Amino acid sequence: MAYDRDNRPDLANYWMPFTANRQFKAAPRLLVSASGMHYRADDGREVLDGTSGLWCVNAGHGRAEIAAAVQNQLMTLDYAPSFQMGHPIAFDFAKALAEVAPDGLDRVFFTNSGSESVDTALKIAVAYHRARGQGQRTKFIGREKGYHGVGFGGISAGGLVNNRRIYPLLPADHLRHTLDVGRNAFSKGLPQHGAELADDLEGLIALHGAETLAAVIVEPVAGSAGVLPPPVGYLERLRAICDAHGVLLIFDEVITGFGRLGQPFAGQYFGVTPDLMTTAKGITNGVLPMGAVFARREVHDAVVNGSETAMEFFHGYTYSGHPVACAAGLATLDIYRREGLFTRAGELAGAWADALHGLKDLPLVTDIRNLGLMAGIDLAPKGGERGYAAMVAAFEAGILIRCTGDTLAMSPPLIVSEAQIDQLISTLRKVISALD
Ligand code: PLP
Repeated sequence: MAYDRDNRPDLANYWMPFTANRQFKAAPRLLVSASGMHYRADDGREVLDGTSGLWCVNAGHGRAEIAAAVQNQLMTLDYAPSFQMGHPIAFDFAKALAEVAPDGLDRVFFTNSGSESVDTALKIAVAYHRARGQGQRTKFIGREKGYHGVGFGGISAGGLVNNRRIYPLLPADHLRHTLDVGRNAFSKGLPQHGAELADDLEGLIALHGAETLAAVIVEPVAGSAGVLPPPVGYLERLRAICDAHGVLLIFDEVITGFGRLGQPFAGQYFGVTPDLMTTAKGITNGVLPMGAVFARREVHDAVVNGSETAMEFFHGYTYSGHPVACAAGLATLDIYRREGLFTRAGELAGAWADALHGLKDLPLVTDIRNLGLMAGIDLAPKGGERGYAAMVAAFEAGILIRCTGDTLAMSPPLIVSEAQIDQLISTLRKVISALD
């Protein structure tokens, strides 16, 4: 049904997340429908989706196959409990996910979001050590600028100060972030300098004692902080140090999972396999809330083999393995496979990088970073005002981009065409050129 702009909703009641509510409601930007690569705004304009919604609609919008699977599942089994009961499609989906996961990460715990996946993975790490007689391993190491959602575990391990500053936190310490514009500005792909920053982990292990540390959690490519690909060799080094000290390594693949880098997961792209992997977003193409934690079989077995009959892991959600979300997920995986979307970001990465780095000459652009189909563009800082102005002007000019402070981020659906990449970048050029 067409949207009637004269019947705009009353905006008062909805307390919007991660939004300046009063500013937004004074000048709202409403999206009313979507198809393929485009949203439609409430004034009828088409808006090219440069962000896959919120890093999640990897196969593009309005996929009929997913809608049909959801409809069918709703009429077959709309909901069933997952505590001490099972339903077939959750097992089928876990198996299908294990088939595309990095080798060995074949045990899957379902959640409903990235934040829940992160808190679940942190709990699994503690439970794993405890099951092996090392119950004192309860601290976490994250990284500055890391984003791991908004649960208390995620904000504690995370490194974004606004998410942390007013809340009580779990015991966690942080590696330095890897952004080094001085040495790596305008790197195409992985920055060359900075692998040694992984050695921070040795220092933190010496400081805290390995016997107190449960896990290190990092995003393979930090997304929300403005797209920070890791320096060449950095993740390998983290893996080696974790192994040397019996600390679990968690990759938070909520953004990088499901094809963003040209492989199903970043672990495969980098050839570095974590012990636990957190996912969400692209798992259902964003159409229904869902997340999943992938565990190495030994991690799972250490916890689950603890007892024949007792519940081994006191954790779960009413909607863990929700049948309708599983149906959406299975249909999504089918599309990713059938349309080659797990590798498409790799095929487009060169064109994407060339187009993006064409913006380098703009005086306000101070750095450009890219990997797969992700991009971060730093504008000369103006307290976040410039980034926000760019996001609003881009929307008015017909493209959806994101801003974090004065950094712009893009991550288009993996079905994007080269012509649409050109449209995104040429529009962005005009937008940035017109900024104060
Ligand atoms: N982890 C990472 C790396 C993310 O980028 C996000 C969200 O952007 C999350 C966790 C949190 O996911 P959610 O918003 O689904 O809770």
